[in-house]
Amino acid sequence: MTQVSTRTGVTEAPRKARRASGAGAVMCFDVQVRRVQRLSENFQRITFAGPGLSEFGVQGQTHDLRIKVVVPSVAADGTRIPLPAFDCSDTAWYRNWLQLDSAVRGSMRTYTVRAARCSAAEPEIDVDFVLHFDEEGRGGPASSWAAAAKPGDRVSIIGPNAAHCVTAESYGGIEWRPGMARHILLAGDETAVPAITAILESLPADVTGHALLEVPAATDEQQVSTESSVRVTWLARSGRPHGELLEAAVREAVALPGWASVDGGPVPPARPLIEDVNVDETILWETPQRLGAAVVKATPNPETPAGALPFYAWIAGEAAMVRGLRRYLVSEAGIDRKQVAFMGYWRAGRAES
Ligand SMILES: Cc1cc2nc3c(=O)[nH]c(=O)nc-3n(C[C@H](O)[C@H](O)[C@H](O)COP(=O)(O)OP(=O)(O)OC[C@H]3O[C@@H](n4cnc5c(N)ncnc54)[C@H](O)[C@@H]3O)c2cc1C
Repeated sequence: MTQVSTRTGVTEAPRKARRASGAGAVMCFDVQVRRVQRLSENFQRITFAGPGLSEFGVQGQTHDLRIKVVVPSVAADGTRIPLPAFDCSDTAWYRNWLQLDSAVRGSMRTYTVRAARCSAAEPEIDVDFVLHFDEEGRGGPASSWAAAAKPGDRVSIIGPNAAHCVTAESYGGIEWRPGMARHILLAGDETAVPAITAILESLPADVTGHALLEVPAATDEQQVSTESSVRVTWLARSGRPHGELLEAAVREAVALPGWASVDGGPVPPARPLIEDVNVDETILWETPQRLGAAVVKATPNPETPAGALPFYAWIAGEAAMVRGLRRYLVSEAGIDRKQVAFMGYWRAGRAES
């Protein structure tokens, strides 16, 4: 396996040499902040740049492409500790990173690529960070880093190797798979806004449905550009419990009987019982491509493969909120689990580890 240093290897190794070296689907990119743009009260867009980013990406649209961002630790004197190098070969990169001294290895968090311009002369990617802080003003390492970021600051990004990811599916970090569906539901909280807005930008004109985005404040609403006929609704929480507005909006968009309302089918199928997920112990991550054979057998259309039905839903955000939406859509509305991606992006009260 090639040693790829987060500080040097990716940006300095020539493109051909690294392709020949057998780098896998995942690579580490040493990048620096080029621009910081405060989008709204709770969103900070950071544009990362670095010559190595010409090697970053997947073929086609990025949709909800996820990456890992490693932000530097803070020393006792308040300065940032330079990120140490680690072996970032695609199979073992996480274990290798964990083996570094925890005081200096920084914090690794998951983010979405809001936009990528990696074939430009000066390749860049945009990441929209939610600036979340508790009542005492404490944020997580990534949120705190983003709030204070300035041009020149360095982080490591772990993401797809464009040379290897000849299809979006060959990098495991894109869940958006609507298949043949032309009627969709996109629903999420602020952490899902970058993914939902990127997906909306990619949709063709014949797609209909709803995009429901719950954000902390009305000032967090963004301009969205889409050729589709999807109706975009922003839900400003304004102090209400997390997910309350989103759940009500999802219930309205997929009214009972759900299957009939999204598919026009005359008879709603039997409502399958679903196993509950303890979001304190497990990460809620249920996508059509991950369903086991037994679950598929229990779906309303066991013989129909994932992606072959006219409706598809993509749901992401705080895990307990996503669990509630899963219960409604699957158990009450009878939506086929093969047609919905449910993703707990973060868990209230728990740092991403
Ligand atoms: C696939 C995927 C894509 C994601 N894309 C994005 C993205 O594009 N932009 C983005 O901002 N986030 C995104 N997230 C969510 C992000 O990874 C988490 O919010 C992460 O916990 C932030 O790290 P942190 O260091 O700031 O906080 P942590 O150290 O992980 O958490 C510290 C505390 O803050 C709480 N917390 C974490 N996130 C939030 C939040 N958003 N609001 C309120 N409290 C919070 C935790 O519960 C914990 O109590 C994504 C997550 C996944 C899995």
